[in-house]
Amino acid sequence: MSFIEARSLVKKYHKVKALDEVSFEIEEGTVFGILGPNGAGKSTAILMLSTLLKPDEGEILYNGSSTIKNPGILRPILGLVPQDIALYQNLSAKENLEFWGRIYGVKEPLLTSRISEIARLVGLSDRLRDKVDTLSGGMKRRLNIAAALIHKPRVIIMDEPTVGIDAQSRKYIISAIKQLNAEGSTIIYTSHYIDEVESLCHKITILDRGRVIACGNKEELRRKSGVREKITIELDSNDENKHQIIPEVLAAFPDSEVTQDDRMVEVVTDELSTKLSKILNVFDRNNVKVAQVNIDKPNLEKIYFSLIENKAEAAD
Ligand code: ADP
Repeated sequence: MSFIEARSLVKKYHKVKALDEVSFEIEEGTVFGILGPNGAGKSTAILMLSTLLKPDEGEILYNGSSTIKNPGILRPILGLVPQDIALYQNLSAKENLEFWGRIYGVKEPLLTSRISEIARLVGLSDRLRDKVDTLSGGMKRRLNIAAALIHKPRVIIMDEPTVGIDAQSRKYIISAIKQLNAEGSTIIYTSHYIDEVESLCHKITILDRGRVIACGNKEELRRKSGVREKITIELDSNDENKHQIIPEVLAAFPDSEVTQDDRMVEVVTDELSTKLSKILNVFDRNNVKVAQVNIDKPNLEKIYFSLIENKAEAAD
């Protein structure tokens, strides 16, 4: 049984299907990413996971029980970080955290220690006494995150927490997410920054036009996209043996594309990490001297666009 499971979620707005049979599973203690172009259905899915919107059809299960029939099973352990700032401008950062702590039922003396802990996490310990309207936009965003997490929720939902903020605040937010996850929180995360999703998320679901087009870890998405990995092996220019290597590599890896010029051999393949030492062994066995090795692994951005474009072509 999964920690959180979305089963065949459907949501229609008039004729638009914002979600069309969307399913995915989130394991406890992981960071789960939702990616997709504008209008893909990310916000709709996030609102449903937050128990703020009911689907027309489908189920969301938390430890096997329906959060649609019974939102109260999830809400006390949920921290929702919205994009909009929900802070009192005339109160200090600390007073805002005290306010949200009371809303979530965190009592003294726990509240004081929790405020210090969460302020440290988002890098605002030295600004706690300052009024919110004196803080920068990025600091307000960090304080907003701290307010949403004051009750130490086990499940944290973050909707584009880093959009449009300065690099320093972005860095604090990313490291806070890593720390929260290391302490055991399960995190559901959306962002337009694909590099952030790549560095943070254990599993990613890609939505497009209300449907899941792929779901898995980066390697699973890469396989599904068909984007391959490349290793370039630079040869020793004086080596007499270098011209005979292609047939040997091809014989060892028939599923790979192998090309060679006078200076290098290029192998385009899948599952490179499991093949790397075997490829280099072929050179060694044939006494071909290797001067340098370069590995080109596709990043998540390349994989993502390949999946989205293939899907768009199939649909047209
Ligand atoms: P994303 O967050 O990926 O940009 P959304 O979940 O906001 O996508 O929207 C998915 C689709 O549903 C879009 O076509 C959007 O226009 C439509 N939609 C979302 N919310 C509403 C609403 N309240 N009323 C009408 N249409 C909506």
